[in-house]
Amino acid sequence: MIPVDFSYWRPDTAEEAVATYQQLADGGQHPVYYAGGTEIVTRSRLGQLSCGAVIDVKAIGEARCLGRDGGRWHVGAALSLAELIHDGSWPLLARVAERIADHTTRSHITLGGNLAGTIAYREAALPFWLADADVTTVGRGGRRTARFADRFDGALALEPGELLLALSVPEGVLQQPSYAQKATRLDYVDYPLVTLAALHGAEGRLSVAWSGLKPAPTRSAELDAALMGPGSAADRARRAARHLPPTLAQDLHGTADYRRFVATNMLADALSALEAR
Ligand SMILES: Cc1cc2nc3c(=O)[nH]c(=O)nc-3n(C[C@H](O)[C@H](O)[C@H](O)COP(=O)(O)OP(=O)(O)OC[C@H]3O[C@@H](n4cnc5c(N)ncnc54)[C@H](O)[C@@H]3O)c2cc1C
Repeated sequence: MIPVDFSYWRPDTAEEAVATYQQLADGGQHPVYYAGGTEIVTRSRLGQLSCGAVIDVKAIGEARCLGRDGGRWHVGAALSLAELIHDGSWPLLARVAERIADHTTRSHITLGGNLAGTIAYREAALPFWLADADVTTVGRGGRRTARFADRFDGALALEPGELLLALSVPEGVLQQPSYAQKATRLDYVDYPLVTLAALHGAEGRLSVAWSGLKPAPTRSAELDAALMGPGSAADRARRAARHLPPTLAQDLHGTADYRRFVATNMLADALSALEAR
């Protein structure tokens, strides 16, 4: 049971959603955007969130877009992870998404919720961080499209009331060689001990992004550069691993040392798999 009363809003456009948010916030209603609702409902039940209004974003057509246009592949923030996996246009995104939560929960969790929510793993962000992705948001100042990497550094920088509308990547990215691996503590379905996503860029450069190593997703240009040096996959993985963050998460899922060990092996696996293609 959710022990608070709240009003429910379901706007058809992003601008209407943002105006509704501002109006409710100005009236002291503490509104939240509601996508899959998995986090909002859980946090409300636990008494960690008390909102006076929820603004359901799933009727906004642009937030449900999916397809190619103008040389880019566009994906709406209100699409569920299950829809993205079923679509399958971007194998890297599908592989990362299919390891987030369980089948039933994935049909509720949205891309936008994973990126903008408070649970910090944000695994679905990894492919977009590696690709030359754009992100479109709508806020008080209107629409804004920016490079995803300029607005995401482990968390998405959103102003209060700013709505995450859609993301896009160049069409060519969808076919670039990629690799993803997730290690969990015990069960196949769990938060990550370590998740790695890797993408071979158009210029032959390999980039890697992580979830689970730190409280929020992380990546390192120095680590990426070390992957391209001479030597066997295992040698390069060891060299690159020196550029992992000096302090890693240490929690119920695993120790910092174990994470470092797993991450180093994952780098070697990623190099071997990508170079065997
Ligand atoms: C059982 C379970 C297992 C999970 N496992 C994993 C995992 O393995 N890896 C992982 O990375 N995550 C995992 N998560 C976290 C999950 O991805 C996030 O909780 C995510 O927020 C849920 O998405 P949602 O669409 O249900 O969000 P909601 O509950 O609808 O919203 C969550 C937050 O995001 C905000 N929000 C949602 N959409 C937008 C938008 N378009 N613009 C701006 N703000 C928005 C909401 O206002 C709210 O603050 C798990 C969650 C659950 C419930």
